[in-house]
Order: sequence, then C-alpha cells, then structure tokens
Amino acid sequence: MERLALRILAGLALGAIGAAALGPTAMELRWLMEPVGAIFMRLLLCLVLPLAISALVLAVAELRPGTLLGTGWRLLALTLGLTSIAVAIGITLVQLVRPGEGIDRSTLPADGKVTPATTDAVQAVIDIFPANPFLAATDRNMVPILVFAVLAGLALRRTETPAARRLQEGVQGVFDVCAAGVGMVMTLAPLGVGALAWMAVAKGGLEALLPVGRFALVAGVALGLQALVVYPVALRLLSNAKPLAFFRAVRPALAMAFATASSAATLPTTLRVADEGLRVPRETGRFILTVGASANQNGTALYEGVAILFICQLYGVDLTLPQQALVAGVSVLAGVGTAGVPAASIPVIAAVVGSFGVPAEAVAVLVGVDRLLDMCRTTVNVAGDLVIARIVGGERDEE
Ligand code: ASP
Repeated sequence: MERLALRILAGLALGAIGAAALGPTAMELRWLMEPVGAIFMRLLLCLVLPLAISALVLAVAELRPGTLLGTGWRLLALTLGLTSIAVAIGITLVQLVRPGEGIDRSTLPADGKVTPATTDAVQAVIDIFPANPFLAATDRNMVPILVFAVLAGLALRRTETPAARRLQEGVQGVFDVCAAGVGMVMTLAPLGVGALAWMAVAKGGLEALLPVGRFALVAGVALGLQALVVYPVALRLLSNAKPLAFFRAVRPALAMAFATASSAATLPTTLRVADEGLRVPRETGRFILTVGASANQNGTALYEGVAILFICQLYGVDLTLPQQALVAGVSVLAGVGTAGVPAASIPVIAAVVGSFGVPAEAVAVLVGVDRLLDMCRTTVNVAGDLVIARIVGGERDEE
C-alpha cells in the first residue's frame, strides 16, 4: 500500500510538473492525457456504485443492534458539527476580506444584473427519498440510493429466512468482487492520476487563478484551517488518535482525493486506509465512510458558502445578517446533498445564488479556478470522513 501511495504521489507530481514545464504546448498532448485520465476515473466510478451500495447494506445489516443507532446519531452530530465549523470559518474569512469587491461589474456575466427568484427547499427534502431505486442509481447524486441501501440493510437484518442469509452472503460477494476490481484498477492509478494532473495544469494553469486570486486564496486558507487546525483538535478532544500518525496513515486517500477531485472515486481507497491504516472496526468504518463520502463534505460546504458570498459581493448584493445565516445553513445542507464527483458544487452554487437574484451564469467566474479548489476541497471532504470514522469507530485491538 505504501509503495502504491508513493507511486500515485509521484504520478501526480510528474503530471503537474510536466504540464507546467511545457506551458501552453501541454494542451497538444490532450489527445493522450484526457482519455487516460477520464477512462481511469470511469473505471473507478463504475465500481463505486455497487461497492458503496453493498458496503452500506452489509454495514447496516451487520452492525450490532444498539450500535447502529448510536453510530448513526454520532455520525449525524459530527457531520453537522464539523460542517458548521467549516462553513463558519469560510464565511467569516470571505466577509472579512471581501474579495468580491472592487471588480468592474460590466465585465461580469449578464452585465452584473440582479433579478429576484426563489428555490424550493421542501422539494429538496422530499427528493432525498427515492421513488425508484433503479432510477436513483443512475443519478449523479448518491444520497437517495444510499437511503435505499440503508432501508434494504435494515430489512435484511430483520428477515430471518435462509434465503435472506444467502442474499447477505451474495451481497458480501458483490462487495468482495468490487473491492478486488478496484484493486486491479488502482494499479493504474499512478498513470491515471498523472494524466489528470497534467490536464488540470494544462487547462487551468496558474494564470487562471489571477482574476479571482483573492477569492481562491480565501477559499484555500479556509480549507487549510479546517484540515490543519479543526481536524487535529477534533481528533485530540474526541479520540485517542495522534493527529500526525492519523495523517500519515490516511495519506493514500488524501492523495487520491486531491488527484481525482471526487470523494466517490476515492471511496475504495478511503475504506482501505481506514481498515488497514487506522484499523477502524470494519462495519463501523464501512457505514461511516460510505455515507460520509456523499453526506459529510466539509470542504464542499465551506467552499459553497465562500463562493456564494463572493458572487453576491461581485454583484453588489448586500446580504443582511439573517441572510448570511441562511447562506450558512444552506451551505451545510448543500454539503450533505452535493454529489461526490468533480465540480459537483458548481450547479449547487448556481441554484443558491439564483435564489438571491444573481444570474446563475455568474458561476462562470469560478470555472477557471474550480479544478484546483475542487482538488483541495475534496481532500478536506475525505479527511473529514476519516476523522469521523476514527472518532466514532475507535481502533480495533486485535492483529
Ligand atoms: N468534488 C467534490 C467531491 O467529490 C464535490 C464538490 O465540491 O464539487 O467531494
């Protein structure tokens, strides 16, 4: 595992340095790098859905009675707690620095014009529950299909027929086979990750950062505070883990998250480092990490809060304190609802700024910097999942 992690990091560095060294000509290798990166992502993602569903069904079916409810509550409390802290850090910084002010509005999408609009929060709550699991399985948003998996796991644990036990074994088989498949795909990770890094640098480059540089800096610093201050403090206060040892053990997952900008694609690695590196009890780890990969997205929530306020500042929409609190609340919930795939935040931000009357096309100003910040926020998302898994699950004593 250590060797693969090192090779992934080497791939990441080589891809980025190679593309940076070539400058604009790096784009000429797009015909090679884009398919290699994209196919690697697809190979991983196509295994993630059955892996996540089987992991969650099994975790719910196998967690000891009593543990399940306790684990669920603690996961919920920590998710809301850590996400709220993240959003508070982001919103405070963006309101202090105000990176959106002082830019010529006529250069903005839709000429900086503002028209009132509304969003439907009630419908968003209803949509967490799928009417048809097969349709839900085809959606980018994993939350409804995970709700289905929890339901199936609950029903499985209370069905005491021989057929139900065989089904449970079958689900374990699905999980084992997907895990083996992921192992195969991961041997290609150094290559795939290198190609992804190459394309990220070739497309964005450092120049893409300049126009919204202050915004990117605020988001980056806020994400750094969450990862390097809040998580170590949480681990110290709420578990017996040593933060340094924790971060050393989870490095492969952080490298994957950074390279792929997708919590979902990182899930197999996250499950493995929790099991092998942190030695979190398996059922608890599977439960927390599969739910967390979709629902506990501290970095995403932070970023969405910062981006929404930044765009409102750009468009001169002055939010009152209650409105800022509303943005904070929406960001916490949006962090739960945002899919774990690259750039999933962008449509969410568009919808929210739309409800303040800012044209949804305003998100275009973020696009140049989005990939790099996506890589950073996804790393924070995955670190947050592992922090919660370690706090709630503790450490196995055997082995
Ligand atoms: N890329 C993020 C993730 O997978 C989601 C987002 O913020 O766009 O965790």
